[in-house]
Amino acid sequence: MKIICVGRNYSEHAKELNNDIPTEPVIFMKAKNAFLPPAKPFYYPEITDDLQYECEIVYKICKNGRYIQAKFADKYYDEVTLGIDFTARDLQRKQQQKGLPWEIAKAFDNSAAVGDFLPITPEMNLNDLNFQLKHNGNLVQDGHTKDMIFSIDKVIEYVSKFFTLNIGDLIFTGTPAGVGAVNVGDRLEGFFEGKKLLDVDIK
Ligand code: MG
Repeated sequence: MKIICVGRNYSEHAKELNNDIPTEPVIFMKAKNAFLPPAKPFYYPEITDDLQYECEIVYKICKNGRYIQAKFADKYYDEVTLGIDFTARDLQRKQQQKGLPWEIAKAFDNSAAVGDFLPITPEMNLNDLNFQLKHNGNLVQDGHTKDMIFSIDKVIEYVSKFFTLNIGDLIFTGTPAGVGAVNVGDRLEGFFEGKKLLDVDIK
């Protein structure tokens, strides 16, 4: 299982980190050990002093494929949830300044927390979904999929040119504005169309 992530997929978030708006999807990956299933504890990693949350819509791949056209991409995923792309922002900035890869800042163990998956139904309009993150009860991210620069179908078309998608792979689709730091004792709760799917305590 691999975890494919899109960076800078919401223009307001790209701006808050002083990044340009991308013209092609920005892709990076997390390894299997990054996966943190619901109800498993998250421990603040000692590698960073600036651990940040990025709440994102996450799709689960249900069919193997390569060179998937966007118009057929919806056949390749059947479940959705919210996830946290945990980021060691201090390490990421350090790597970026040197032009080095991000993995140590983005792909460490348990850095891909996910909530409970929901089956995708025909009534769900994936380009019209609202999702929110609360940090210690305060609303900090309020995203809408209509603001995504690259839709899930466009992302699948792009990444499947490089990587075969396999059943069980996850795609993190990028975070809206409002990212911030967490500390030990904090709680993150994610709401998808008003329904709570994600609950992570930082230990
Ligand atoms: Mg992210």
